[in-house]
Amino acid sequence: MRAGEGVEKALWMAFVPSYIELERIGELEKRIQLLSGILKECRLCPRECKVDRLKGEKGYCRAPVELRISSAFPHFGEETPLVGHHGSGTIFLTHCNLRCIFCQNFDISHQGQGEPATPSDLARAMIRLQEMGCHNINFVTPTHYTPQIVSSLPEAIEMGLHLPIVYNCSGYESLEVIRLLNGIVDIYMPDAKYMDEKFAERYSKAPDYPLVIKEVLKEMHRQVGDLKTNQKGVAERGLLIRHLVMPGGVASSESVLKFIAKEISVHSYVNIMDQYRPEYRAHEYPEIGRRITHKEYLEATQLAKGFRLYRGF
Ligand code: SF4
Repeated sequence: MRAGEGVEKALWMAFVPSYIELERIGELEKRIQLLSGILKECRLCPRECKVDRLKGEKGYCRAPVELRISSAFPHFGEETPLVGHHGSGTIFLTHCNLRCIFCQNFDISHQGQGEPATPSDLARAMIRLQEMGCHNINFVTPTHYTPQIVSSLPEAIEMGLHLPIVYNCSGYESLEVIRLLNGIVDIYMPDAKYMDEKFAERYSKAPDYPLVIKEVLKEMHRQVGDLKTNQKGVAERGLLIRHLVMPGGVASSESVLKFIAKEISVHSYVNIMDQYRPEYRAHEYPEIGRRITHKEYLEATQLAKGFRLYRGF
């Protein structure tokens, strides 16, 4: 053992995710039942398709009832507090309930490229990532598979899982589902994409996105608070918000950042992202058929500072 390794391990081991306590008192099983029940008339997201996923019916997201994994690996391109030294244990799930026309992962999210996985498969995947030294289990686009993910936790806990769970989502979430995740998710990482319903309709067919994201951010923050890290700067619990700056101001950066600062917290960790590129069908919409300029990005960060935000960008 190298010098200090025991201390480091003790510091990290001091964190115990609350899903372990929920399992101990029998609450996790109740949540699994409640979440699984939603699949019968699916309202896992605000689209409320009411299809019977248990019978194989598919809704707007096109997701099957059996969860599909596209890839699972230690990701070093995520936010610094998630990556730490050994990576974020990222599990990319297929399909998406938002289906933006500029999707950067359309082969996974729209075309569903991935392999079916049972709850046991998923539990083993989580343990593999933990054994590789990852600092968390980071579910990418989990919304339409939430019951299946939570159903895999008892087996994973039995196998020794003790890492924080990251819920890395589009922000187009059902409040009912997010409330059922209280104490299960340690780190919420939603996008905050739009604050203008006409753009939310045009690019994501979700005109209610601005209304939804406001309530969802409040509930997530109520549950986990601002992002907290351990002595090594690795995230343990809290809210981490992503905002992708888009060309021509269609992401309403000013309104998004103002809402976060005024209604959530000025201590919010906000990753203001500059990597927009016109993917998938974005070229059909000339106003977003280009990358953002340096000036557009700078304006967004200046706005954030003007609202007294200071973390994550
Ligand atoms: S998760 Fe899929 S099927 Fe369920 S309500 Fe949302 S879009 Fe519809």
